[in-house]
Amino acid sequence: MADCVFCRIAAGEIPAKVVYEDDGFLAFEDISGQAPVHLVVIPRRHVARLTDLDDAGFAGGWLLAANQAARAAGVAESGYRLVANCNADAGQEVFHIHMHLLGGRRLGWPPG
Ligand code: AMP
Repeated sequence: MADCVFCRIAAGEIPAKVVYEDDGFLAFEDISGQAPVHLVVIPRRHVARLTDLDDAGFAGGWLLAANQAARAAGVAESGYRLVANCNADAGQEVFHIHMHLLGGRRLGWPPG
């Protein structure tokens, strides 16, 4: 989508610090990092919200891409957290599905 910031990152039109990519997915540093490692893991294909997901293979591929991104970022063994915000109460700001991959420090629980 032309007006989607994450589609534009996937197309190389907006710069991003890419940590992992494959044919279907991309992980890059969050512009407003909340931890020493804070990546955004997206599919290249535009899907607006988690509730729009309808393909188990695609969804599973997204999760495996996040695991690969964790390895690339060096937090696979120390630990990491995946967070996906959906709609207003979760504070979703960018309507192109994404997982936040957070690590590099001990993370508090529960999240706010
Ligand atoms: P959410 O609130 O779950 O929709 O999170 C959107 C995330 O995207 C926020 O953590 C933003 O800091 C991040 N973000 C927005 N624009 C960019 C960008 N151009 N490059 C990297 N991260 C971005």
